[in-house]
Amino acid sequence: MLSEFDLIKQYFVRERPGRAILGIGDDCALLQPSAGMQLAISTDMLVENRHFFAGADARCLGHKALAVNLSDLAAMGATPLAFTLALALPKADRDWLAGFSAGLFALADRHGCELIGGDTTRGPLNICITVFGEVAPGRALRRSGAIAGDDVWVSGSLGDARLTLAGLRDEFPVDQATLVLASERMHLPEPRLALGQALVSGDLAHAALDISDGFVGDLGHILTASRVGARINLDALPAGPALLRQDQRTRRQFCAQGGDDYELCFTANAARRAAIEAAALACGTVVTRVGVIEAAPGLRLVDGANGAVELDAAGFDHFALP
Ligand code: ADP
Ligand code: MG
Repeated sequence: MLSEFDLIKQYFVRERPGRAILGIGDDCALLQPSAGMQLAISTDMLVENRHFFAGADARCLGHKALAVNLSDLAAMGATPLAFTLALALPKADRDWLAGFSAGLFALADRHGCELIGGDTTRGPLNICITVFGEVAPGRALRRSGAIAGDDVWVSGSLGDARLTLAGLRDEFPVDQATLVLASERMHLPEPRLALGQALVSGDLAHAALDISDGFVGDLGHILTASRVGARINLDALPAGPALLRQDQRTRRQFCAQGGDDYELCFTANAARRAAIEAAALACGTVVTRVGVIEAAPGLRLVDGANGAVELDAAGFDHFALP
């Protein structure tokens, strides 16, 4: 039988020295940000049957639980330092724990983000991570900085996670090869940390957030916080490789309102286009210009010919569901 403390020791304590002054094992961890830097802090929870299906692959869950948190640091342009892990487990399953911690640490190590503490309890499977990052004072990319005339940019591609969900839920037929291609995006999102940091270090963007609940709804947060509007070309939204195989209506719908994309949406002065393209290229992340910020409030969705397109413009809201 695996005790709570054996479980933590075997699967979450690591031998290697970390950057934290004090890591797992005491009542608190002690963390020293670099001199003069601000801490950026964010928490995200993954709940079984809400954010993932029962029986989901443990390694993917480990990756995704941290990835969705790192994505928030990326959106602010922060550099990851450390994270805590609060875990409710129905039972101490060694195979599950080995897979989960492998997925978790593989991503953590790639970004130099150290596990410094947490909490472990028995209960319905629930994974809650808090990440700590650092960013130079006054430089974090906030939602409130968009200015009329700014370009609106999106990193990577959108909609493949939503297409995976459609396939798993049998909303319409999705062939196996397409589903395999799409599901990578659902299960193994890549936080766009290098891009976020490059936007900050080059002073390239005015506002940013990460797209987790659907592009249209999330862009709405920038518009509200910045007291501006936007005109977005739905057909410029970068559909994921699997979604590209679907019809135009599905492409538009899933790019605009898919959810689980974990890409960055940011706004920037048009004079920065070349510098942004160069920074994105250096990070190995594609970026696409999808519209402009306008002074008039509201979101205007158009097609490639600038004709108005109607879409049920709701993003994902956990409490709006029946
Ligand atoms: P406390 O009694 O103060 O709540 P715990 O006994 O829960 O502390 O945890 C002991 C130590 O193990 C603490 O340093 C805590 O941060 C760490 N810890 C507990 N669960 C986890 C976990 N899932 N991952 C990493 N560290 C953990
Ligand atoms: Mg505790």
